[in-house]
Amino acid sequence: MKRASVKLRVSLMLTLLMALLALLLLGMMLSVSSSVALRTSMNQLSSTVRGNLGEVALVDGRLALGENFHFSLGGVSTLIYSRREALIAGQPPVAFTVSEPFRNGLARVVGDGQWLVLDLWLANGWEDGVWLRGLMERPDNRQVTDRLLMMALITLPVFLLLAAVGSWSLTRRALRPLDSIMTAADTINEARDLEGRIALSEGSEEFVRLADTFDRMFERLERSFEAEKQFTADASHELRTPISIIKGACEYSLKFDETDEERQETLTMIHRQAERMAELVNQLLRMTRLEQGLDRAGLTSLDLGQLVLEVAEEQGWEPPAVTVETAPAVTVAGDAALLTRLLLNLTENAMKYGGEGRRVWVRVLSKDGEALLSVEDDGIGIPADSQEQIWQRFYQVDPSRSGGGGLGLGLSMVRQIARLHNGRMSLRSAPGEGSCFTLHLPLAASSKK
Ligand code: ADP
Repeated sequence: MKRASVKLRVSLMLTLLMALLALLLLGMMLSVSSSVALRTSMNQLSSTVRGNLGEVALVDGRLALGENFHFSLGGVSTLIYSRREALIAGQPPVAFTVSEPFRNGLARVVGDGQWLVLDLWLANGWEDGVWLRGLMERPDNRQVTDRLLMMALITLPVFLLLAAVGSWSLTRRALRPLDSIMTAADTINEARDLEGRIALSEGSEEFVRLADTFDRMFERLERSFEAEKQFTADASHELRTPISIIKGACEYSLKFDETDEERQETLTMIHRQAERMAELVNQLLRMTRLEQGLDRAGLTSLDLGQLVLEVAEEQGWEPPAVTVETAPAVTVAGDAALLTRLLLNLTENAMKYGGEGRRVWVRVLSKDGEALLSVEDDGIGIPADSQEQIWQRFYQVDPSRSGGGGLGLGLSMVRQIARLHNGRMSLRSAPGEGSCFTLHLPLAASSKK
C-alpha cells in the first residue's frame, strides 16, 4: 500500500483543526446571539413595566392610571392584579396559559421558556397594594440563527478550501528542504557519484543538520571508496612488474635446462620479487586503512619529546649515528602509533639517503605556537624540482638511489599522518648538503603558556 506523504498528512490535520475551530466559533456565535437577544428583551420588559408603574396610583382604594400607562407596548403586555392576585385591569395574551406565582422584582423565563415575566408590587399603606405583571413573548431567535447557519453553510466550504490550500502550501514550503535532500541523495545514489553533496544552506535547523549528516556520510563513503579504488589501481599497477619478472623467470627455467647455479639464481630472484610484492601489499594496505579511517583516529594528548625518546630507545639510536634532542613538555593531540610510523619513515629515509657518515639528527621543540619534530641528515639531498613531487605515491627521485629497495610510498604516508593530526610537513633540502623534514603540529592547550 502506498503510504500517504507527510505533506498530505500534515495539511489534512491542519485543515481538520481549522474546520473544528470554525465550528467552535460558529457555536459560540449562536450562543452569544441568543443570550444577547434574551438580555435585550429582558431590558425592554423591565423598562416598560417600570415606566407603567410610575403611572399607577391608588386613590382612596381606587385605581387611577396616568395617561402614559400602556397596557400593550413594544410586545410587552402589562396587567394589574389585586393583592389577592385577581386580575383588575389588562388583558393577558391568549397564548399565555401558565399559572405563575407572583415574585416581586424578578424578571424570569417561564412556561417552557416561551414567556418573560416581571412582577412589581405597588404598596398602598400597610395592608393594601396591587401587582403589576409585565408579560412578553420570548423573542424568536430562530431567524438570526438561521441566518448565521446559512452564512456558515456558504462560507465554511470556501474557508475549508482556503485552509486546505494554505496548509498544503505552508507544509510544502516547510518541507521543501526535505525534498532537496531526497533529490540530492537520489541523484548521488543513482549516478553513483559520491562527489555530490547536498550542501543545504537554508531551511530549519533540523534539516540543515540532517543534510550535514548525509554530507559527512557521503564524504566518508567517498573517501573509503577512493581509497579502495586507489588500492586496486596501485596494487594491479605495481604488482605487474614483479609478477611478469617471476613469470618470465619461471618460463625460462622450465624451457631451458639450467645449471644448478642458474636455478639458484632464478629462485633467489623470484624470492626477492615475492618479498617486494609482500612489502608492497603491506604498505598499500596500511595506506588504505589510514585513508579510510582518517576521521576515526583517536587523538590523545601526548608528550612528543617523550614519544621520540621511547622510539629512540626501542630502535637503539645512539649518537653519533642518530642524535636525539628533545625539549620538555611539547604536548600535542596525537596518535602514538601513527606518529611513530611517521618518525620511522623519516629516519629510515634519512639513513637510506644519508651521507658518508650516515648521520641523522632528530629534534623536538616548540616554536611560534607550533610543535616541531624534525629529522635531518647530511646526505645526498633532493633537487628543488623534485621537492613537490616526493610526497606523491610511488614517486622516487631516482629509483637507483635507494638501491632498488624503495617503493615511493613512505613520504606519502608521512604527509597523510601529518594531515590527520591537523598538521603539515615542510622540507629544507639541497643536493649534496642534506635534507631536513619537519612535522608542524598545533600545540595542545597544556603546552601553551
Ligand atoms: P622511497 O624511499 O620508498 O623511495 P619515499 O616516499 O619515502 O619512498 O620517498 C620518495 C623519494 O624522496 C625517494 O625516492 C627519495 O628519492 C626521496 N627522499 C626521501 N627522503 C629523502 C632524504 N632524506 N634524502 C634524500 N632524498 C630523499
